[in-house]
Amino acid sequence: MANVTVVGAQWGDEGKGKIVDWLSNRADVVVRFQGGHNAGHTLVVDGKVYKLALLPSGVVQGKTSVIGNGVVVDPWHLLTEIGKIADQGVAITPELLVLADNATLILPLHRDLDQAREAASSQKIGTTGRGIGPAYEDKVGRRAIRVADLADPEALKPKIERLLSHHGALRRGLGLPDADAGELFDQLMEIAPKILAYAQPAWRVLDQAKKAGRRILFEGAQGALLDVDHGTYPFVTSSNTVAGQAAAGSGMGPKGPGYVLGIVKAYTTRVGEGPFACELQDEVGQHLATIGREVGVNTGRPRRCGWFDAVLVRQSVAINGIDGIALTKLDVLDGLKTLKICVGYKIGDKVVDYLPAGMRDQAAAEPIYEEMEGWSESTAGARSFKDLNANAIKYVRRVEELIGAPVALLSTSPERDDTILMRDPFEG
Ligand code: IMP
Repeated sequence: MANVTVVGAQWGDEGKGKIVDWLSNRADVVVRFQGGHNAGHTLVVDGKVYKLALLPSGVVQGKTSVIGNGVVVDPWHLLTEIGKIADQGVAITPELLVLADNATLILPLHRDLDQAREAASSQKIGTTGRGIGPAYEDKVGRRAIRVADLADPEALKPKIERLLSHHGALRRGLGLPDADAGELFDQLMEIAPKILAYAQPAWRVLDQAKKAGRRILFEGAQGALLDVDHGTYPFVTSSNTVAGQAAAGSGMGPKGPGYVLGIVKAYTTRVGEGPFACELQDEVGQHLATIGREVGVNTGRPRRCGWFDAVLVRQSVAINGIDGIALTKLDVLDGLKTLKICVGYKIGDKVVDYLPAGMRDQAAAEPIYEEMEGWSESTAGARSFKDLNANAIKYVRRVEELIGAPVALLSTSPERDDTILMRDPFEG
């Protein structure tokens, strides 16, 4: 099996960046297929920290990096991120970066709408405020501006008019001034040459890579519980985050994604609003937040923390078709006397072994825990399974059993080399 797809199996922030970076070594091409710059990936390479939001993690390693059609692209943000990474010594050339010419653009009016809605709403989603949701709305509403439109100024003008006639009503409803068509056109024309330098039919680049037998790594953003269909709706992001989207969001067929690697944190976190049955507001929650440094990469928001929820991850394994997991941040549990794992929910007088779709049920779900003995030894920096203490091994084995998927990789610190390989995803 040549290709690997990496997806978050919880609410995002599972540590995908490091694993994708580690796997990029073994890949020829790295592809983003959904989301936008709401994602935040931290890579630590030789002690140097890279913070990426939109660029595929492969850029740091000089691998062909593709932003697929399923991604929503803020072109100003893209240019800023390219500039920042260049300042750290990584030049982003059009040979290195491929931007799908049919990807949807995020415009300033999308950010305005996202932020104004969050400010006005009594039921906040807790979005990243980057315009992700409104951009996807325009995409499915068939009025979006896409990358290729930047190359055709004459066609762009009426498209902007059409888009603004839709947004005018929304903006007025939220007390925002009308957007100016001429100003937006000028702004887009100003950046068009810089953006178009990277634009290509990405599906074709990938088709050629496939035919040349190159290894492709698909890099998911967010996590399964934030998927617009399968997540804790409406407290979700606006794209499909599951592995199946790697095919549609890049323009490869359903066999493209290959081996599906789910990234799973040894406990649970989420940012933003929404149900979170295992959330802890006690000193253990504080321990996880502090030791795990649980703060959003891009937004700086503190993450909510809780025990490992095997029910959610088992569901994630099913909806993604996960073949194996990368378990991250096991070392954050070091020093906790007793560990708890959620194995079911109590909802009213019912006991269930999955997360129901209804909002009210999701909010009412109370965790049923199983307890395990913790460990006092440090697991940080372990590079072999044999380096782990008996209780840590028991914990890992129990997680595998409960979720129904094997651990393929174990990450024991943010450093690239502190990774224990149990089986190579590229070898299937
Ligand atoms: P949006 O994607 O900005 O629309 O935000 C919708 C929800 O997804 C909010 O709860 C965000 O906190 C969450 N979210 C979006 N991107 C990420 C991410 O990269 N990690 C974790 N949560 C995210």
